[in-house]
Amino acid sequence: QPTNFYRPTYAEIDLNQIKMNILNLKKHIHHCVQVIAVVKANGYGHGDLEVSKAALEAGASMLAVATPDEAIRLRLLGIESPILVLGASPPAFAVIASEHDITITVFQKDWFLHIPTLPKKLKIHIKIDTGMGRLGVTTESELSLLLQTIRQRPDVLIDGVFTHFATADEENAGQFKRQLAKFKTFLQLFPERPRCIHAANSAASLMHKDSLFDAVRFGISMYGLSPSAYVRDELPFQLGQALSLYTEVVNVKQLTEESTISYGATYTAEKDEWIATLPIGYADGMLRGLSGQEVLIQGKRMPIIGRICMDQCMVRLDGQVPIGEPVVLIGRQGSELISIEEWAQKLQTISYEIPCVLTNRVPRVYT
Ligand code: PLP
Repeated sequence: QPTNFYRPTYAEIDLNQIKMNILNLKKHIHHCVQVIAVVKANGYGHGDLEVSKAALEAGASMLAVATPDEAIRLRLLGIESPILVLGASPPAFAVIASEHDITITVFQKDWFLHIPTLPKKLKIHIKIDTGMGRLGVTTESELSLLLQTIRQRPDVLIDGVFTHFATADEENAGQFKRQLAKFKTFLQLFPERPRCIHAANSAASLMHKDSLFDAVRFGISMYGLSPSAYVRDELPFQLGQALSLYTEVVNVKQLTEESTISYGATYTAEKDEWIATLPIGYADGMLRGLSGQEVLIQGKRMPIIGRICMDQCMVRLDGQVPIGEPVVLIGRQGSELISIEEWAQKLQTISYEIPCVLTNRVPRVYT
């Protein structure tokens, strides 16, 4: 039980699971294919620094983040491995990126217009938009012009080229195949082959061996989650969910028939019922849509009843339990498991969103 905070609500991150997921992926892909660990958005809510270190220990050769600031943060915290910024970086970041040896994504020739001669060589990865419709060069002529511009810049090194799939996690591979074919066509326009060609996200790295190239960008499944229900059913190896969410019962009472629970008094006891109060609410990321979701107490499933409050919520018990009784919101207790996917289904969203919306108020504890 951690002791450096007073409210007994915390997320536990099992870094060994993260390492296992990477090691299993490495066995699954060819040994020449490198792993880029995607640690954007604070490591999908798991903690960017801790996940980065674990991923590098497990053999990842590069980290990927979404924003320049996320990259700088990791550098200032002492991470020395290659870091790629996947999103758009403003031209004003070029000097800082070169100084900190941060690799950035480039896809517009005009991006270079106002960039002074750089103190150190700037590493870039060129992004090709093959059908995601988000960032990237979309036409062959655009790519040729961009390559011409870069040829005038001895202070810029094309270290890589990549694209991103929109549907790699779906059963229908039509769009995926069209994107892969377009990517291969664009690759032929490079006079010299960049060091690192990459395209696959978790879904593609697990499902589409034809899309691996030099490296895969392993995100959601590094954290032990499946990108979609389709991939979950077709997994080439078992993934281990790294995050669990725990709290303790802080109040227990017996309701009499017709007493009500929480804001709006939307829940009315049908008979005498035992009710526990848990110190976690929507300001922690336990969103109001999770009313009705079950939690684990004494190895059994108990439902959240009434509206979830900002800092607390209530659960119906099947009998009295002591104050301080451990509660599993996400994770295992006895033979029962509440997965992140179960929360995602309850909230009609994808697993990705769940750890990302656990707020800073929830301490992350590492094992
Ligand atoms: N590559 C890019 C460009 C991304 O935006 C993301 C995340 O959305 C990833 C790779 C990792 O994807 P996943 O988490 O599905 O593995």
